[in-house]
Amino acid sequence: MTATVYVRHQGLRRLLRRHPWVFRSSVERIEGAPADGDVVDVRAPDGRFLARGFFSSRSLLQVRAFAFEEGVEADAALVHARLAAAVAFRREVCRLPSAETDCWRAVHGDADLLPGVVLDLLGEVAVLQITSVGFERRRALLLDAIEEQLRPRAIVERSDDRTRAREGLPPVVGLVRGSLPAADAEGRWWVRERGLVFPCDPLGGQKTGFYADQRDNRALVAELAPGRTVLDLFCYSGGFALAAARAGARRVTAVERSAEALELARAAAVRNRLEVELVRADAFRFLQQCRAEGRTFELIVLDPPRYAVSRRSLEPALEKYGALARLALGVTAPGAVLLACSCSGLLEEARFEELLAEAARRAGRHLRVFHRGGQAADHPVAASCPEGRYLKALFCHVA
Ligand code: SAH
Repeated sequence: MTATVYVRHQGLRRLLRRHPWVFRSSVERIEGAPADGDVVDVRAPDGRFLARGFFSSRSLLQVRAFAFEEGVEADAALVHARLAAAVAFRREVCRLPSAETDCWRAVHGDADLLPGVVLDLLGEVAVLQITSVGFERRRALLLDAIEEQLRPRAIVERSDDRTRAREGLPPVVGLVRGSLPAADAEGRWWVRERGLVFPCDPLGGQKTGFYADQRDNRALVAELAPGRTVLDLFCYSGGFALAAARAGARRVTAVERSAEALELARAAAVRNRLEVELVRADAFRFLQQCRAEGRTFELIVLDPPRYAVSRRSLEPALEKYGALARLALGVTAPGAVLLACSCSGLLEEARFEELLAEAARRAGRHLRVFHRGGQAADHPVAASCPEGRYLKALFCHVA
């Protein structure tokens, strides 16, 4: 018997709109004794069916919905259908993968009705991340479907996101199916984005190896770069810097604190035969130094790591970002472009924009936001779940 989770009135509105999360605070009572990862029905106080999802006693998200029709089973057929639909969207609408781009996101959790599942393709390697106990228990179904539909050379699991702990799951990292293609002499694998190549490490790199979510924003940076002096702060493997250099920037400087990441950017610059000044430094210090030297830039990309990881860390994160924005504005030439990114899902765009406005006020500059970018199209957001929109990328003109 499928257990039933009855929600309170206050949790109802979102669920009626097909929001896929049932918070513990909105659970009225549970009929039956579901184990973690079991399928449960979610019903309104009057018994109306709302959704079917996976139960997790430990998580704040007590149920994560995978269907909004009654009687849908979480079986091989469902996983196959969901994966096929997700991949079809990328192929037909995003035109991915393509001759120019072979690193793309095939599955993006709730947007693809696969809660807690992220699947990235890095060339011939599929990188899977599971953060829901429901799919943790059905991992074999996922692996089978991925093998059959995408035929990767290898499937690597990178389930080391901190959100896993919230569902009581241990970190898992390793090769789970197939074998990795041969790496180059330096032990690197390479992926392609819009014709540029980047080194990645599916097992050891940051995130799942390459920040594909910035693809569309890099394309716009490339359009803006010709003739400009460009500063790519927090450059990681140099995605923005190389896009700007190839497009004809006058000079490109890329700053990164981590030595390993900077080595990736260096290898990428060499391999693409592009010139980038690479600086190993703390971005804050680097900006202060430029300020002291009177050095300015005409296009600045600010793409720091996720500062706000919990509600409690939101205020300090805003402070830190505000300080960073003020420093960056201090080295922007008149008429420059500032691309300010934040990948903290907890920070709403309106609040982010307010923060930038405040930084501009304090720096005595006028900001015009001329484009609001976000995560690339292969990282879609369920319309019913705006929380899925984590990346904000505000393109600003600085006067
Ligand atoms: N812009 C990159 C992704 C940035 S991820 C891209 O397009 O691929 C954030 C990067 O910031 C990480 O590589 C991290 O090592 C680096 N970082 C974190 N704190 C930093 C600091 N204070 N100064 C410079 N780099 C920093």
